[in-house]
Amino acid sequence: MRAVVVGGGFGGLASAAVLARMGFQVTVVEKNFALGGRARAFSEKGFTFDMGPSWYLMPEVFDRFFQAIGFRREDFYGLRKLDPSFEVVTDSARIKVKPDAGANRATLDSLEEGGYSKFMRYLRECSEIYRKTMSSLLYRPYSGMRSMLSPSVLRAALGMRLFSSMQEMNSSYFSSREMLYLTGFSSVFLGGDPSSIPAVYSMVNASIFGDGVFYPEGGFASVVGALAKAGQRLGVKFVTGEEIVGIRASGSRVTAVEGDHETYWGDLFVFNADYHHVEQDLLEPGLRSYSDAYWASRDVSPSALIAYIGLSGKLGLNHHTIVIKGDWEEHFQSIRKRSSGIPEDFAFYASARSKSDPSVAPQGCENLFLLIPVSVNFQESDTNRERTVQRALERLEEITGEGIRQRIVYMKTYCRRDFEKDYNAFLGSAFGLSQTLGQTAGLRPAMRSRKLRNMFYAGQYTHPGIGVPMTLISAQVLGSLISGSSYWPSEARLEDRNLAETS
Ligand SMILES: Cc1cc2nc3c(=O)[nH]c(=O)nc-3n(C[C@H](O)[C@H](O)[C@H](O)COP(=O)(O)OP(=O)(O)OC[C@H]3O[C@@H](n4cnc5c(N)ncnc54)[C@H](O)[C@@H]3O)c2cc1C
Repeated sequence: MRAVVVGGGFGGLASAAVLARMGFQVTVVEKNFALGGRARAFSEKGFTFDMGPSWYLMPEVFDRFFQAIGFRREDFYGLRKLDPSFEVVTDSARIKVKPDAGANRATLDSLEEGGYSKFMRYLRECSEIYRKTMSSLLYRPYSGMRSMLSPSVLRAALGMRLFSSMQEMNSSYFSSREMLYLTGFSSVFLGGDPSSIPAVYSMVNASIFGDGVFYPEGGFASVVGALAKAGQRLGVKFVTGEEIVGIRASGSRVTAVEGDHETYWGDLFVFNADYHHVEQDLLEPGLRSYSDAYWASRDVSPSALIAYIGLSGKLGLNHHTIVIKGDWEEHFQSIRKRSSGIPEDFAFYASARSKSDPSVAPQGCENLFLLIPVSVNFQESDTNRERTVQRALERLEEITGEGIRQRIVYMKTYCRRDFEKDYNAFLGSAFGLSQTLGQTAGLRPAMRSRKLRNMFYAGQYTHPGIGVPMTLISAQVLGSLISGSSYWPSEARLEDRNLAETS
């Protein structure tokens, strides 16, 4: 049986490995010349930049995935726990978070009376949600609302503040702005903000604060490389620099996808490319699962203005820093309202990855990555991009007390239109559909086409959603759907040979 996977992002690479493991002959067709999708890397002037993800969270999901396809993660790349995990800088505080929760006692107590003990209670609830979602909710296939009402799902969801937002959950523990910032910023990783993302996703905080934040040696590029290598060992063929421009169907089956160079025939097709693009640009209207009205009514995650910067000299920043200026609600509102501008005070993320990995910058230099969430209507003229990045740099200069702008030896910005051009991204969004309650589990776009029986989807648009760990899980859920099992792989196939050692 031949399977064709369209898109070589994390969701596509992981799906290809799963299908190959199931015995399919798999070809991955990727539009760009590099694999990895939003997690590609590039090098310029001695600096190496991971273009997208930088927070390696939920490490057990990666380990589980490699094990499921017959390998061991540690045979491909090592992990380093960062210390400090990250820093949050507000107008009035610099909050350095250590991986050992006990080491944060004095810091948390200084932010709010009883801060540490409230935080430990909060973390217990997040960990309980994490445990339940991992064991009963994330790895199972869903098909619509009905599948979410099964007794086992309802039982697992019991007591999980299903209808509360992260903001509501966090403010039931904390009252200070700083504690709310500290426990709320992870909502942005899920394509929203604390008031739009459901409390159940505070499971991410169990990973951030409970497990710690990891750095995969070599960065996310080495995670992409590991999946590609594992795929190759399982027999997956990769075609890069080939954009799929059409889908051929006969009756209720896809027969082939047409690339701009070749046609790829198969028995089963998995689309990892942005769901909206596949449906709206590649499929005939009568073969689409969703209408124009459906897409128009979706909550789309923000886009991002990113700056990849090479600096001469070192910088007094940690690996991960979240910078919040003023009240972040104004910034979030501009995103929710899809404004073309961004408020004077905005929140952003800065990563000085060369702090943990000197190989990503020339000796004595710093590799700096800035990510500023912006709305999908952000007016991104070159001057506006430049002006916004300059404001973030000014803020970093205030924080570090160092001159930064005059030390820039390389800078490239990336925004909405780049997401559209490079990935066919819906409205130029960075993360696809937000992880709101109405776009969770069975309410995310379905993994199986409603019209074409051998057409599937995987990646961040599908269940469970945004983030590298989630896209790996989506590939395992795809495995369950195709094999008709409730979990993939079945235990019987898990205990076998380690292919990592055979090639
Ligand atoms: C700036 C940024 C920062 C992030 N930070 C983190 C983080 O710190 N930690 C984390 O876990 N997650 C993070 N994420 C989220 C995470 O990177 C994504 O959820 C994940 O990489 C998405 O993978 P995917 O396979 O679903 O999609 P993609 O990576 O978009 O892959 C889809 C692939 O399909 C290809 N494609 C599109 N159209 C076609 C076509 N017609 N023909 C052939 N190929 C096509 C695209 O080129 C792309 O390679 C971040 C994302 C961004 C953008």
